[in-house]
Amino acid sequence: MIPSTVQHYNFSAGPAILPHSVLATAQSEMFDYNGSGCSIMTMSHRSDAFMQILYQAEQDLRQLLNIPSNYKILFMQGGASAQFNMVVMNLANGFKRIDSVVTGNWSRIAHSQMGKLSDVEVHLAAHGGDLYNYTDVPPVSEWDVSADSAFVHYCINETVHGLQYRDIPKPDGLPPIVCDMSSEILSRQINVADYGVIYAGAQKNIGPSGATIVIIREDLLERCSERVPDIWNYQSHITRQGMYNTPATYPIYISGLVFRWLLAQGGVAAIEGINRLKADKLYSAIDQSGGFYTNPVKAHARSQMNVIFYTPSAQLDQQFVLQANAQGLCMLNGYKTMGGMRASIYNAMPLQGVEALTDFMQDFQRRYG
Ligand SMILES: *Cc1c(COP(=O)(O)O)cnc(C)c1O
Repeated sequence: MIPSTVQHYNFSAGPAILPHSVLATAQSEMFDYNGSGCSIMTMSHRSDAFMQILYQAEQDLRQLLNIPSNYKILFMQGGASAQFNMVVMNLANGFKRIDSVVTGNWSRIAHSQMGKLSDVEVHLAAHGGDLYNYTDVPPVSEWDVSADSAFVHYCINETVHGLQYRDIPKPDGLPPIVCDMSSEILSRQINVADYGVIYAGAQKNIGPSGATIVIIREDLLERCSERVPDIWNYQSHITRQGMYNTPATYPIYISGLVFRWLLAQGGVAAIEGINRLKADKLYSAIDQSGGFYTNPVKAHARSQMNVIFYTPSAQLDQQFVLQANAQGLCMLNGYKTMGGMRASIYNAMPLQGVEALTDFMQDFQRRYG
């Protein structure tokens, strides 16, 4: 146990840090939401109180991302992993091919799953592992994509490999873009109109696990076959205002509080500036350590959300994680197959958290470098 007097900063990749004020509000409303005498958790999803929460969450997300009116918003379940197949079931009917860009762990899993419930060819458009051993992302000019494909799928921020498309791919000449934004949605401004579908599990940069945001361009909804069961059909959820079955009420409620918090911070443009500062500070600490700390990723593809780094040995990495944890810098261990460290510095991580980490890095290097 870490003494409670120590300031904690949570660098978990997901489920991840939430703003303190959001948790405090949730705590104060836990037993009695807004004078109703009930917790959100124990209330009907069709109650006025919850319907209002869902409506407001949608409005606030629309405002935050400037989502055009011809896009629908859903709060689904099943995580981003369920979307790997849902996008195929909903968008690929009548098509022979989809294009898939592999840039790291998550898009590699998506690639391996997308063909399973369909006869569609999952065409490998580019493979960042083969090309760069996952130290860079293939530029759009390297994607082998056909305009006749149902869509092209890619992951804009690879949570495990610490890779990000800092230059956001533009839709020119591409089929509709389906994008996994799980670990960066709301971290920087995007142009929603560039996408056919955006999806994101909430537990990285939004809220608790259990809710998955799907933003979909209206005209694509017509593609879905009658044979797809309603539970996996976007249109059936939209027709029933997100109430086809019981939605993840509590995760949606917390996500809504996070949207409010983000609006109060000045929205996505404001948080984008802070996120850039945080990432620059951390990568500078790595680059200016004289080689004690290393990050293998090309500068233009370094993730501003998930920063991976290594000391000279696996043994020292272990010491780093243990000692950092004892000082309140929590969950810095790298992904199981990657080793080393990973600092996830999502929206809710304050600049002071990153400064505490870079201070600790310097101190650790003084003692072990
Ligand atoms: C975490 C993550 C996933 C998997 O999300 P689940 O909600 O666990 O299904 C997929 N893609 C990315 C980019 C992720 O970070």
